[in-house]
Amino acid sequence: MNNLQPTILIVEDEPPLVELISYNLEKAGFQAKIARDGDEAMLAVEEHKPDLVLLDWMLPYVSGIEICRRIRRNPDTRDLPIIILTARGEEDDRIRGLDAGADDYVVKPFSPSELVARVKAVLRRTRPAFDKDQLTYGDIAMDLTTHRVSRAEAPVDLGPTEFRLLRFLMEHPGRVFSREQLLDSVWGHDVYIEPRTVDVHIRRLRKAMNLPGTDDLIRTVRSAGYALDIKDEYA
Ligand code: CA
Repeated sequence: MNNLQPTILIVEDEPPLVELISYNLEKAGFQAKIARDGDEAMLAVEEHKPDLVLLDWMLPYVSGIEICRRIRRNPDTRDLPIIILTARGEEDDRIRGLDAGADDYVVKPFSPSELVARVKAVLRRTRPAFDKDQLTYGDIAMDLTTHRVSRAEAPVDLGPTEFRLLRFLMEHPGRVFSREQLLDSVWGHDVYIEPRTVDVHIRRLRKAMNLPGTDDLIRTVRSAGYALDIKDEYA
């Protein structure tokens, strides 16, 4: 499982359109997951933890608007960015979509490049870390192309798991994640690993990153988990 590309869930029941959208998203560097109706969509949101949902308005059984509301009602997915796709261009429908909690709205027919641009714009707004080739936090810099990491301008060697762990934490600075959440997001859903394994990798990450004269970059929250959190003077 590659966690380095943002995952976009496409909820759409027309196969040619699904194909067109997924092809163009993958070409633009995203991972595309597909759901064809509301039930599949809710399962896929749970299973794949997408970074954004492209949601068709007209779906069999349950409408896109209703799916949008369900995603917003669940505390785990409340902040998941949603773009609604629809053939309806009426102002009322646009407002209904945004009322139901959609972040943006694309009217069919759309050009693939327009859709990709809107996806990027919403991600940029909601998850600023995705738009960059380089992540920085405090005195830490991570180059996403070369996978080079440095702390206070000194290069740091990280194993692949520690790299993914640090990347995930840098994309969500200050937020506390439980071991289970880190396992799901960094290791992936399909792998069974003891939650305590997270502690081992956090320890390795700390050892590699906490160079002499630097502050501890990870805050351990008793019985809750971990957060990337270095002193205010850096942040
Ligand atoms: Ca449809």
